[in-house]
Amino acid sequence: MNIINGKQIQEQKLKFISKNISKIKDTLKLVVIQVGDNEASNVYIKNKQKICEKVGILFEHIKYDKINEAKLIERIEELNTDKSVTGILVQLPLPKDINEKRVIDAIHPLKDVDGLTTVNLGNLFSGNKGLVPCTALGVLEILKSINAPIEGSNVVIVGRSRLVGLPLSGLLLRENATVTICHSKTKDLKEKTKQADILIVAIGKKQLIKESYIKENAIVIDVGINREEGKLYGDCDFENIKDKCNAITPVPNGVGPLTVTMLINNIIEAYNLQKNN
Ligand code: NAD
Repeated sequence: MNIINGKQIQEQKLKFISKNISKIKDTLKLVVIQVGDNEASNVYIKNKQKICEKVGILFEHIKYDKINEAKLIERIEELNTDKSVTGILVQLPLPKDINEKRVIDAIHPLKDVDGLTTVNLGNLFSGNKGLVPCTALGVLEILKSINAPIEGSNVVIVGRSRLVGLPLSGLLLRENATVTICHSKTKDLKEKTKQADILIVAIGKKQLIKESYIKENAIVIDVGINREEGKLYGDCDFENIKDKCNAITPVPNGVGPLTVTMLINNIIEAYNLQKNN
């Protein structure tokens, strides 16, 4: 059993990314828009700011206590045409009275560094160049860094969100995996997960995946983050699963560090796509 060290993979990837940034003569800039004061969002935004500062990317945080959807979209449209802005990210969740999908789709696809617009999701599944959600990229990065045999493997993804499960299925199909996606309506989940050479879990349910759900020697990537009394838990019952696996990511310090790292990757990718457009 091998416990995957997300921090270590992050350091390696950041070294590579920093080299790429040093070759770029222009200044890169990320703008993060937040509405309201969600506690988890505040933490995520701080992490994004920290990593941008570490690699020399300008960071602007636009925070509204309240704003209506039309005004928010207007602001995004201004940023779309602002040449000093490389990437735009709307921190989710938005307040209930704002339609998230309409707001996200207002971001220019070449500045959509979260990869969440309809255009970029379509690009992924049609094999076009585009920006892909950071967590999905982070999971692929982990699998590659441990030399996981993706091609031809049975990969089971639990969770089908636009943020994680859905784009991951597209990325892994591109890598020639045989992909099964499970979700809240899947019957006999355990029967499906037990077939997985590589099991990726992104559901947001504390330790739902038990030892009996795992095939001997599987690679398990736990994307889940569940907060309880100040502690973080994954979607997998890590302590009971770990000895059965070939490799497993812990929570924290598994997928999380790669998510924020791949955001930097996407800012560079956005810059390159804009240059070549
Ligand atoms: P989401 O709520 O948008 O989607 C959850 C998915 O899980 C849905 O597709 C749903 O059908 C499925 N699901 C829910 N309960 C299920 C069950 N009992 N059995 C099978 N499937 C079930 O969530 P999300 O945004 O995809 O995030 C999932 C988890 O990953 C959350 O804990 C989130 O905090 C975490 N996350 C972590 C990172 C990171 O960097 N580590 C990044 C993004 C999300």
